[in-house]
Parts: sequence; structure tokens; C-alpha cells
Amino acid sequence: MSYPSFFDIAKQFKVIMLDSYGVVKNHNGLIKGADKTLAFIRNEQKLFRILTNDASRSPQQQVDKYVELGLPGIHLHEMITSGMMAKHFLEQKITSGKIAYLGTENSADYILQAGLEHIAVADVDLNNIDDISACVFLDDEGFDWNIDINKVVNLLRKKNMPVILANSDYYYPVSHNDIAIATGGVAKLVENMLGKKFIHFGKPDSQMFMYAYEQLIQDEYINKNDILMVGDTLRTDILGGNKFGVKTMLVLSGNTREDNYESQIRSTGIIPDFVCKSIME
Ligand SMILES: [Mg+2]
Repeated sequence: MSYPSFFDIAKQFKVIMLDSYGVVKNHNGLIKGADKTLAFIRNEQKLFRILTNDASRSPQQQVDKYVELGLPGIHLHEMITSGMMAKHFLEQKITSGKIAYLGTENSADYILQAGLEHIAVADVDLNNIDDISACVFLDDEGFDWNIDINKVVNLLRKKNMPVILANSDYYYPVSHNDIAIATGGVAKLVENMLGKKFIHFGKPDSQMFMYAYEQLIQDEYINKNDILMVGDTLRTDILGGNKFGVKTMLVLSGNTREDNYESQIRSTGIIPDFVCKSIME
């Protein structure tokens, strides 16, 4: 099967938005040729943003990670993360008490630095929860799945509070064949069990698209027709881009595989405007 070239399609747009994991990098590191794609975007003087549901690192740490992997030249303002959106929300909305979190200390340090005290779910005493005012699902690492997920369920049964999800991905690829459950998958389990609706940040929700768009239209005359969103996941990248009203491109270099993307598009009803093999071809 032959696919159209990413470059031919990208040429038609002023703004290229890329998902990170499965598009620019994967479990092996940088996707081969990503440096050439970034050079193409710069040479063609396109505007560029990375929109990632990875809330485990701050935008600066994400940029640094790319440098470490061999892709320098991404500017801090071009890196937009669901963690940033969750951070803004918490700063605006949660103004007292302690925030209980599931995730790594690193993710907690940057998202919850809003001035409020935060406490790992592992350290919460379920008999003394009066001062806990919100709960945040940050990352799939940094806690004991058996003990601490049960603890969150009991915390939320005992006390009603806003629950924030900083990354709505259900899973992510960890090798050519295997996936691992991501924070969104854990939160979905707890949401379904308790029959509650959490506050989601990250694609397919529109906060990151909105943030990027507002930033872009400050300096340039841009409208939604000028934007291409590129991602490897139908449910997050493509649905999010479609809902926001920009053109979308599915790439087959990550979560969605060449052998079943057509049936996935059919069964989900999430239809990308373009399908390409990767951002390098
Ligand atoms: Mg991805």
C-alpha cells in the first residue's frame, strides 16, 4: 500500500502540530529522520507546536529530553503539555487544602507547585482526610498499583472532591508489540467504578488546542484552515483535532498499526483527513 508523502501534505499548511510519542519519538528514542522533518518545517517557515498528553515532565524537561535524544532546536513556547493545562486549572480553581496525587514526585513537583501542599496518595491517612481538597492523576509510575489505586477509590468514596486527570491516554506502546496502561486507563477504571466524571486534560479535550491557537493568533494571521494536527492515536490526536476544527493526519508510526488502521477508523468513526506512514516519508 502506498501512502501520500507527509511533506507534500504539510506544505499546504502554515502551522504543523505534532503529537510527541509515536510521532517524533518512540520507545527506542527519536524516530529516525525526525531531525530532517524539523529542518523542513523550519526551512519552509512553518509555525510548529508539539502537543503532548505526557504530564510526567515539565515543558522544559520535554525540550531537554529531545536535545538528549538528538533533536535540538525545539523552543520552549512550542512545547505544549496536558500537564501545563492541568497546572493552570489547579492554580485557578483549587485554592485551599492539600492535593492528593497518584504519580511520580517529579510530575507532582512541577504540576502542583501552585503553592498548595501536595501529598502522595501513599502517604494519605484515610482516617484523616478533612484537609484534602482535590485529587490528581498525574502519571502511571511512582506508586503501588495495588495498594494506591485501592486507596484512591476509598478516598473518593469517603469524600467528594474535584478529581483531575492530567493525561487522558489509555495506553502507550513500550515495544513493537506491547503496550502499557497509561494514567487515563487507570482513571477510567476508577471513574467507571465510582460512576464519577473526572476533569480531563489532554487530547481529545480542547484545552491544548485552544492554548496553542490563542498563542498563534497573537503574532500571525492564522485561522483553523491553516493548521494540520498530526498524531498516531485516533481517540486522542485525531478526535481532538477534528473536534477543534483543524485538518488531521494519522501516522502509522505508533499506536495505530498499518495492518488494522482501516478497521479502527471504521469501528470508531474517527476519520482523519490524511493517513501517512510517518512524518519522515
Ligand atoms: Mg502518541
